[in-house]
Parts: sequence; C-alpha cells; structure tokens
Amino acid sequence: MHSFHYHDGQLRCEGVDLAALAAEHGTPLYVYSAQTIRDHFRRLDAALAGVDHLICYAVKANSNLAVLDLLTRERAGFDIVSAGELFRVLKAGGKPECCTFAGVGKTRPEIEYALRQGILSFNVESEAELEMINAVASDLNRRAPVALRVNPDVAAGGHKYISTGKSENKFGVGLDRAFEVYRAASQMTHIRVRGLQMHIGSQITEAGPFAQAVEKVAPVAAELKREYGIEFFSVGGGLGIVYKSSLQSGQETWWDQAAGDPAPSLTVEQYAEAIVPTLAPLGLRILLEPGRFMVGNAGVLLTTVQYLKSSDSGKKFVIVDAGMNDLIRPALYQGYHEVVPVREPSPTDRREAADVVGPVCESGDFFAQARELPPLRQGELVALMSAGAYGFTMASNYNSRPLAAEVMVQGDQAQVVRERQALGDLIHGEKTLAS
Ligand SMILES: *Cc1c(COP(=O)(O)O)cnc(C)c1O
Repeated sequence: MHSFHYHDGQLRCEGVDLAALAAEHGTPLYVYSAQTIRDHFRRLDAALAGVDHLICYAVKANSNLAVLDLLTRERAGFDIVSAGELFRVLKAGGKPECCTFAGVGKTRPEIEYALRQGILSFNVESEAELEMINAVASDLNRRAPVALRVNPDVAAGGHKYISTGKSENKFGVGLDRAFEVYRAASQMTHIRVRGLQMHIGSQITEAGPFAQAVEKVAPVAAELKREYGIEFFSVGGGLGIVYKSSLQSGQETWWDQAAGDPAPSLTVEQYAEAIVPTLAPLGLRILLEPGRFMVGNAGVLLTTVQYLKSSDSGKKFVIVDAGMNDLIRPALYQGYHEVVPVREPSPTDRREAADVVGPVCESGDFFAQARELPPLRQGELVALMSAGAYGFTMASNYNSRPLAAEVMVQGDQAQVVRERQALGDLIHGEKTLAS
C-alpha cells in the first residue's frame, strides 16, 4: 500500500501531492492518510483473531471527527479520557456502549454525562474514584459499569513521562490490592463490576514488557472471573511505531523499511504472538486501547521554511512556520520526527547539520537539533513525519497562533477535516472589562 512516498520528485500522501495541498490550504498543515489508519486497524484486528476482542482506539492520540468517523466505520470502540472526548465520539457516530472511560481525575459532571450516555465501562484508578462513581450512579438511580485499573509494576516505554506501569506512577492500584478493591466494589449498590484493565506505557517497541505484564495479570483476571464474573480484560495500548526511518525514492511506505532504525518497531503480529497465548485460555473478552499505533505514521505536519540563519559560532538554523504550539512532542519529551523536504533531494546533495526551529518565543521550540539535512531554501516545504498521534491533539494557541488546518486524504481525494483558525477564533468568548 502507498501512504507517504516520492513520486516524480514530489512527496505525496496516497495519490495526492503535498505541495498542492500546501498551496491550497497554507502551512502549517496536518495531512492524514485514511488508508494508513484503516490498514493499521485491520492488521491489528486480524492479528488478534485468536481471541474475542474489541479495539478501543485511544481518542487522545488524534480526536479529529474524521478519524473517529473512519474508525467507527471499522467498528472500533473508543477509549476516552474526558467528557469532551465522549462528546466527539458520539458526534462522529460512535456508540457509547463501545466506550471505556480512563483517567485518574474524572469529575462528577463527567461521570454523570458518561453514565447518562451508557458507556461500556469506567476504568477506575482509585478507591476514592470508585466511591464517587457509586455516589453519582446512586443519584441517577443507575448502576455504573466499572473495571479496575491495576498497575502490574513492569518497566516499559521510552521517556519517563510516557511510562505508566511502574508502581511509582500515579496510575492504577497495585496488583496486590486488586482483590480488596473488587470486594469493596462488589458490595457497592450502584456499581457493577465488569472488567479488569491495565496500561503499561507508550511507544513500547519490544514484546517483552507486554508479555510480562499480561502474564502477571492474567491469573488475577482468571480469579476475578470466577469470583465476580468479570467479562473483559483490557490490556491497554502502548504499541510503538517507527519514528526514525529514511524515506527513499520508490519506497512504498514510510515505516516498512526502518533501515538504520536503532529501535525497529514491534509488528502487530509479534505483539499478538506475545500476548494471545496467555489471553486466549481466560475466555474473557479482550480489549485493546491503541492510540499512537493507529494514527502516528498516518500523519505529517507540513511546514514552510521561513528563514535560514547562522549563529556566530557557525551553527545553522532552519526557521519554519510551524511551532511547538502545533507539535509539542520534541519540546515535551524529546520526541523525534524525521524532517523530509517535499521536493525530493538529489542523492548527491551534501548534507549539513542544522537545528529546525519554530517561531515561538521559547528555546524549547525546536523540531530537530543538529540534524543532518539536505540543503533547504527559504520558501521550501518540509514534512515533519509521523505526526499523526499526539500532534494536533496537543496543539495550543500559545503566542496567539491560530490552530493549523487538518486534511484527510483518501486515494486521490483530499478533504479539509478541520479549518484553519482565523484571528477572530483566538478571542472567541473573551471580553474586555465591563467598567
Ligand atoms: C494514552 C493511553 C492509551 C494509548 O496509548 P498509546 O501509546 O497511544 O497506544 C491507552 N490506554 C490508556 C489508559 C492511556 O492513558
């Protein structure tokens, strides 16, 4: 399949020229490949064929309505972390009974909203939260479906900000306390115990931690099924993707040939092989909550080179029109994105180290540091690759910069799925002093 590749010297998304999209819609511009998202969903779905399962896409990775619409059509469920995400899923045609609600700080209004909509489960992270859910459900005269999030105490995930499965993290309750909490939950009049959940971290590129965590928690799941009749076991998300790759002419996909990648991504097949043999005998419905895997490689952020600059020490800067407010991953957790010229560079071009930086007034506003890049000219378009996950969803109006537009490509068609903000949008709802 084709997603991002050079064709006649120009970078394309599926059948659409990225330069043409930039000319029509301006930059910075997020561009997504529908086919890539669909392909990733279907590959994961097929790899899990050995167990009864539901893939609950983690909406926080990319919550654009078009992405949610596409995944609804694939019959995905959704993992949400706020009332706002549930609202988006419902607007996109998703079913509430396929939504799990995660997060350590659910508020009373959020719990009420989710209960009224009839979600599949609240993934509970503490006893205090369980009591709050019971109280809210009692007020609404309903029974709240819950799963407890356990912390398997397994080290995984790249950066410390995205590792969640160690006992020192704020997430879940310790495995040793799980039975106690289930006992308490089973005695609450407005709680219905439905499942068990875990999530060990993000951007995990080896099978080991997944296998270890599942092996640790599966016996607990079996016991809870016997004692409380739980129906599902959610193994969370965290499947990593390829960020470092060299895009060459004629290459079919961005991530398939991770030549020189120091951490080759785990394939879905290897992932499934690592967990399905332990999961299948449980006879439980298995839930998965992938976010990054589904959309990460499916998106790029197109940006235009504004200026070139050299410091007195000879350091080179490429200043682009996208900033950390558009894509914060490099600034927030040293996220890596390939910087690829939209016009195909010649193999004989001499590469030179440069920092690719944005216009925001922060030293953390960079996309690449000391990166070997082909020569880039003022006005030239570059693509920041693998920006489909935790890109737009983390964008802000910092420096009063309007949010970028988003475009979804399907074959040779492109559709704006979110308009670029206008200056007027920046002050929406604001007021000057009344007196
Ligand atoms: C963020 C999150 C996910 C998705 O993580 P990815 O690394 O994007 O797959 C899944 N489950 C929970 C509970 C999360 O917090």
